[in-house]
Amino acid sequence: ELIRSDRAASLQLSEIVKISEAARARQAEGHPVLTFGTGEPDFKTPENVIAAAHKAALAGDTGYPPTAGKPALREAIAMDAERFCGFRPEIAEIMVSTGAKQVIHNAFAATVNPGDEVIMPAPYWTSYADIVDFCQGEMVTVPCGADQGFRLTPDALEAAITDKTRWLMLNTPGNPSGAMYSGEDLEALAEVLRKHPQVWVIADEIYMHITYAPFTSFRKAAPDLADRTLIVNGVSKSYAMTGWRLGWGIGPVELIKAMTAIQGQCTSGASSISQAAALEALTGPQNLLAERCDAFRARRDMVVDALNAVDGITCEVPGGAFYVYPNCEGLFGRTTSGGKLIENDADVCEYILNEGNVALVPGRAFGLPGHFRLSYAYSDADLTEGCARIARAVNELK
Ligand code: PLP
Repeated sequence: ELIRSDRAASLQLSEIVKISEAARARQAEGHPVLTFGTGEPDFKTPENVIAAAHKAALAGDTGYPPTAGKPALREAIAMDAERFCGFRPEIAEIMVSTGAKQVIHNAFAATVNPGDEVIMPAPYWTSYADIVDFCQGEMVTVPCGADQGFRLTPDALEAAITDKTRWLMLNTPGNPSGAMYSGEDLEALAEVLRKHPQVWVIADEIYMHITYAPFTSFRKAAPDLADRTLIVNGVSKSYAMTGWRLGWGIGPVELIKAMTAIQGQCTSGASSISQAAALEALTGPQNLLAERCDAFRARRDMVVDALNAVDGITCEVPGGAFYVYPNCEGLFGRTTSGGKLIENDADVCEYILNEGNVALVPGRAFGLPGHFRLSYAYSDADLTEGCARIARAVNELK
């Protein structure tokens, strides 16, 4: 086919998009759907950040920026890593991209050949899988269930490594589970990796400011592995800047150069205005981070309690991010009033959307079925109402 390359053909419409479309269709029919599907803070971008962007635009900061990002921003990122993550990278180790997603895309595109393996602890953020597929890598999915806190164990890592392993993908705090790796957890994984020099690590730490326990960066836990570690971060979640498309990678200079070459023929880099905004986000007042984190914590507690009160649903208490990933296997085998048998997580989500008017994402999208993801980056009122609707709908099952 002329309009679909082999690579494009392997890209599937994501479950998250599908559920959003189904929710929108119901809304259009007049149903009052509450959507807890997307991972986007409901807060606004801070005003000082918007003002800095405005000022930069008026001052003529509107030309092509350097492909890897403006030096002042990369400097601020180094300072930010020192302040919040406990390590200070060189400027040459940093590249700025149009969001954390492009950092990950650049990294896999620059390093993965067909057949190279990427170890993916599940549940994982759906885009990791799609990007690996797009780059013709092989996903090696390692299920990490609730019994292990949705975290990869050193033994499971050891068992998954082969001669073809190129990358281990870590995400802490994690989407969709909210799981957080402690410093000791990361050190134990690093101990395994020291035996396997062919394996590099991506640590996606984009939720590091939304944490309810002490956060440890992988590079801080294993500084001796810095020459094969790529840290991914950005302003989307912490500073409520998803639309500005601004993220960064911190890794060894040769990798950053290769990723910059990819980016140079892809987007040419992040918008100059967004870079000015991110510079202000990182160098301006930081008190909003703790305020917003407290608000997320209160919502987490409310949602976890409400879901655990529902017969057939069990919900772990996540350590970070703004998602819960409850188990819904207790509902399998029950029947709807219309006579439909609930057999899997997709059935649960479809039923809750149609009967309860709440949109959730089925766990199979994240590589660990039997669960669903609820994002609590929504207002307290919506979350309270949404959980009550879920409980009502579930209670009507026979
Ligand atoms: N990494 C994780 C784990 C995410 O959940 C998301 C967004 O959902 C991203 C990266 C994307 O970040 P960005 O908006 O900076 O591309």
